[in-house]
Amino acid sequence: MMEVLSVAAEIYPLVKTGGLADVTAALPGALAKHGVHMRTLVPGYPAVTAALKGGQVVHEYDELFGGPARILAGHATGLELIVIDAPHLYDRLGTPYAGPDGQEYADNWQRFAALSLVGAQLGQGLVEGYRPSIVHAHDWQAGLAPAHIAFDPEPKVKTVMTVHNLAFQGHFGAHIFAALGLPQQAFSLDGVEYYGGVGFLKAGLQCADAITTVSPTYAAEIRTPEFGMGLEGLLNARAADLSGILNGIDTKTWDPDTDPNLEANYKPSVSHLRRKNKLALEQRFGLESGDGPLFAVVSRLTWQKGIDLLAGVVDEFVAAGGRLAVLGSGDKHLEDALSAAADRHLGRVGFVRGYDEPLSHLMQGGADAILIPSRFEPCGLTQLMGLRYGCVPIVARVGGLADTVIDANVMALDQGVATGFQFAPVTGWSLAEAIQRALSVYEDKKAWTRLQRRGMKSEVGWDVSGRRYADLYKQLVTAK
Ligand code: ADP
Repeated sequence: MMEVLSVAAEIYPLVKTGGLADVTAALPGALAKHGVHMRTLVPGYPAVTAALKGGQVVHEYDELFGGPARILAGHATGLELIVIDAPHLYDRLGTPYAGPDGQEYADNWQRFAALSLVGAQLGQGLVEGYRPSIVHAHDWQAGLAPAHIAFDPEPKVKTVMTVHNLAFQGHFGAHIFAALGLPQQAFSLDGVEYYGGVGFLKAGLQCADAITTVSPTYAAEIRTPEFGMGLEGLLNARAADLSGILNGIDTKTWDPDTDPNLEANYKPSVSHLRRKNKLALEQRFGLESGDGPLFAVVSRLTWQKGIDLLAGVVDEFVAAGGRLAVLGSGDKHLEDALSAAADRHLGRVGFVRGYDEPLSHLMQGGADAILIPSRFEPCGLTQLMGLRYGCVPIVARVGGLADTVIDANVMALDQGVATGFQFAPVTGWSLAEAIQRALSVYEDKKAWTRLQRRGMKSEVGWDVSGRRYADLYKQLVTAK
């Protein structure tokens, strides 16, 4: 078995703010089938230390970014974890990044510099008897790990940097550099220096042996100014080492036939049983009951997710006979716009503000379609859940959304290969047009059922992508 250390700031179900957590939790299982044994290094947030079982102290630091720390190896929720028990950094309420007041922690650079440093040191043989072949860093929080390894006079381990979202880069002032434990020459274009400061993600992209992102289309998009967020030059220079590997979803947790969060379980052949879930959904969202189309949104409410575009087409959608159920939280002005839409269209539009995992399952199991009008989307998971649950995805043609949904154009409908609706460019007009197309297919019950069932047969698990990651690791280990 090849040993790989995954380094991440989130892991489902212990700490999750988005798709990153789903992916880091799924990878170990997906890779086990391909000869890879993966442990995951995560910060010791309260939820993590509370869940950790059989934790053995494998290393102690007298000083790790402002206080003592212990490294614990154990397991939780079926995952093998290595945990940084450093109360001065991680023992806090709130999200992994911000306090209960919503303010990002001022010492985030230390919190994640610590994560990166420990990841690199574990890769370089910190703990006797533990010698991974690969350190796999996820997103900016782990971005300094490849830099520490690359600037070690004797790198002993290969590194992979995965970008789950290029919008979050971990960019800090130059003054933090001295505390990072990197040699002076690392403060350069070849290292961590980024626009005069320190870029965590930039460092990882510059220094890792391989770069991956979570869909082939996003891998191409981020090499352009439109999607590259300032890093397109670097990514073009490293194009030979950059690839896109699609995310999957956990098809055991997300199985409409066994999902305990549903009112009624169903197999693809009996998808009419979804009606009971739709009824439950109508009640939860205070919607009028009926056979007409009920579309859903499960999302962070941000500009990236195109929620402003959605808010702009609600009136038209309702006028065309649609009902809408929205679950999410995020930017205040978007939350306000959705609340206002719900007030304007009592019984037709429902908005539940917040994060609710069980409800998100019921929505996929009961709504007719899921709307995902993202301006950019590295991979996206909710369209995969939608496919699996017969909740037809209506998506912007960007990133992973472009790679996973087959548009119901005339030919694809005729051939029975369509699985959803795509639209481009990402504008309100084009979203409205896609919704219109969906509504007209919906009127043809047979065609709609065919679309649903075809989607439910889509491959949305980790089989293919697990193998791709394993192949990449093997390539790196055998390369000189
Ligand atoms: P991102 O990581 O950019 O937020 P993804 O589509 O990759 O977007 O992943 C989002 C994940 O978070 C999915 O598992 C989705 O079901 C879940 N999610 C998003 N918002 C909510 C919410 N309000 N309640 C429950 N689950 C949510």
